[in-house]
Amino acid sequence: RRAEFAAMRDLPARTRDDLRIELMVNAGLRDDMAALDVTGADGIGLFRTEFQFLVSATLPQRERQLRLYRDVLDAAGDRPVIFRTVDIGGDKALPYLKAGDDADEENPALGWRAIRLGLERDALMKVQARALIEAAAGRTLNVMFPMVSEPWEFEEAVALFDAQRKWIHDHGRGVPNAIRYGTMLEVPALAESLDMLLPRLDFLSIGTNDLTQFLFAADRANPKLAERYDWLSPAILRFIGRVTRQTRAAGVPIGVCGEMGGRPLEAMALIGLGIDRLSITPAAVGPVKAMIRSLDAKALREAMDGFLGRPLRTLRGDLAAWAESNGV
Ligand code: PEP
Ligand code: MG
Repeated sequence: RRAEFAAMRDLPARTRDDLRIELMVNAGLRDDMAALDVTGADGIGLFRTEFQFLVSATLPQRERQLRLYRDVLDAAGDRPVIFRTVDIGGDKALPYLKAGDDADEENPALGWRAIRLGLERDALMKVQARALIEAAAGRTLNVMFPMVSEPWEFEEAVALFDAQRKWIHDHGRGVPNAIRYGTMLEVPALAESLDMLLPRLDFLSIGTNDLTQFLFAADRANPKLAERYDWLSPAILRFIGRVTRQTRAAGVPIGVCGEMGGRPLEAMALIGLGIDRLSITPAAVGPVKAMIRSLDAKALREAMDGFLGRPLRTLRGDLAAWAESNGV
């Protein structure tokens, strides 16, 4: 089917009933940018900036970060790129970044990582903010924060970026035409204060990898649990459906950037819940686009309510049967 997927490269990700799905790819290194042209994706929905830190023996200085971000924006051209600030710490520990004597954490996924580390070690975050802002001079900068659990973390991160923007501007250097701020939703607690955060957000992106492990209290790296909790479990689908309705009602764009969206049946379920932006691994673009182009989204959205009314266990069987009998 590879030739069939390649032939779809220039065809839009549009359902049979004319719903346009924004199909973006996840990236993290310069070389990943080639995937945009290979897949015909609409942009980079998640650029994991920590990759540069993870492959580096020393802390990447501002100049090196800036060069990477500028190259990425140049490669993307007029397609959007969403840069996620570093998600390091915890299990993605860096030898050159020590937390202190108590660096060893019993539950690193629940630990001192991502925005938690960024706001405390704010010198690191300021350097990254300046690199991103300078790299995007004269363009739009999309910034997204990882592991936000409460609205104040988002507010502080935005304030830090705005202060750096002002500093750079005051020193006569170019700044972005606009900075759009968004957050990942991967810590379930954030959903409980979403109403307070939505008026401040330019976009929201659901990270289903961490969200699933936190919702089910099940380590995403533990193979013993890999088969046990399914992305098509009612708890996850109901959660995502509720957040999606609430976010869309507030007029805020919402997408999914976890691995869930890269599997055709899971991606179908997400569209059934109202999601119209997916950011996925490049190899999944062909299969997911083929699914989208064979789907009647309105019919699926109607069927979805019925499936979610019987929340006993995974809806995989129901959704697969629906796909089969509806020619998806
Ligand atoms: C996620 O948690 O779903 C996500 C996209 O981020 P990462 O996989 O980098 O933790
Ligand atoms: Mg995550």
